[in-house]
Amino acid sequence: MNKTRHSLSKSNVIENIPLACSDETAAVEFFEFQRWGDTPCCVRCGSVDVYQMKDAKTGARNKRYLWRCHDCREQFTVRIGTVYEESRLPLKNWAYAFWRGATSKKGVSALEIKRHCQISYKSALFLMNRIRYAMAPDVPTAPPLTGIVECDETYVGGKPRNKFIDNRKVENMKKKAIVFGAVERGGSIRRHIIADVTGKTLKQAIARVVDPRSRIMTDEYVGYKGIGPSFEGGHDTIRHKRGQYAKGDITTNTIESSFALVKRGIIGTYHNVSHEYLHRYLWQFDFLWNGRKLNDGERTVLAIRSAEGKRMMYSAPAQPF
Ligand SMILES: [Zn+2]
Repeated sequence: MNKTRHSLSKSNVIENIPLACSDETAAVEFFEFQRWGDTPCCVRCGSVDVYQMKDAKTGARNKRYLWRCHDCREQFTVRIGTVYEESRLPLKNWAYAFWRGATSKKGVSALEIKRHCQISYKSALFLMNRIRYAMAPDVPTAPPLTGIVECDETYVGGKPRNKFIDNRKVENMKKKAIVFGAVERGGSIRRHIIADVTGKTLKQAIARVVDPRSRIMTDEYVGYKGIGPSFEGGHDTIRHKRGQYAKGDITTNTIESSFALVKRGIIGTYHNVSHEYLHRYLWQFDFLWNGRKLNDGERTVLAIRSAEGKRMMYSAPAQPF
């Protein structure tokens, strides 16, 4: 195996990211190191008997950063089998977009990526959509939430069940997406779009993401009535209508503040997000929340590593449930 310039990313990731964002070779090696560590392997057959292809004249790496496998003779690059496989954008732009997407608490707009990377708006949108997809949870294997789990629902733009007085508002609200969220106290969050706020829908939403051994906390909304027996820890409610926000350890403040962050991000950074695309933004906000204890470099690397095995996305996948 013929390796050159493997200076990147062995030590502090944060120190390496700015270089990976400005130099294409550094970016390629950064992505290669995140994917393979010290043992690059063939993406077709898994062999580690692989080598970098070189330019015959200069001896530098091949322009396309190709590798070749001694066993199956196939050529490949680090892009194969990832969300950036179909892209012609330089990997330094991907490095920058991953970095910003994984570290900006309120999200990062395609307009900003367009300006900073000097690429078209369309390319920037493509980039950010795929990065959000990389951040999506692997639904079949994601562990259910457990312990004390706060559940709540919201409309992006208001809490309509409290506003059903004005008929025009009912019409407006019908256009908004309803987001259900459940958060483990001190742990992970899972949010997804639901069709309505009936008891049946809310109970299904909870059952999908919460372990039956958990203790559930919600506000007094009637849709949550009767869920207690399904959970070993029971169901406690807080009465917001009576101005109550905490009763002992019973509160839904965590899930509510998490919704506030999403709304600030969506209004402040993205200005608006159509119903159809909202779930992708939820992936990103959940990813940021769930990785909040990691440093910026670790969170960026986690996003990049999550991009592997997610190639099948030409158009956007629908919400996984
Ligand atoms: Zn091979």
